[in-house]
Amino acid sequence: MSMKDPVRCPKCASTDVRYSYTQTTWDLILDLLFSMDAFRCRSCRHRFHKFDPGDDTADAESAVQEAKSAKPAQQHE
Ligand SMILES: [Zn+2]
Repeated sequence: MSMKDPVRCPKCASTDVRYSYTQTTWDLILDLLFSMDAFRCRSCRHRFHKFDPGDDTADAESAVQEAKSAKPAQQHE
């Protein structure tokens, strides 16, 4: 989560929104497939999703790098 880019409510444009934990299967699908997190506006209580790459992509890339660098030991035939 980037603190320099506040999430803004698409309905009332308020920045008084808080992260809403995944509650439904749809939330989970959006989060896993599109990296979209659920948010809840504290001003108008509107619930919405926002694309948020966050650290998921970085973690995946670093995992790939680790996988590439960690070559399996050659086995004698
Ligand atoms: Zn709102």
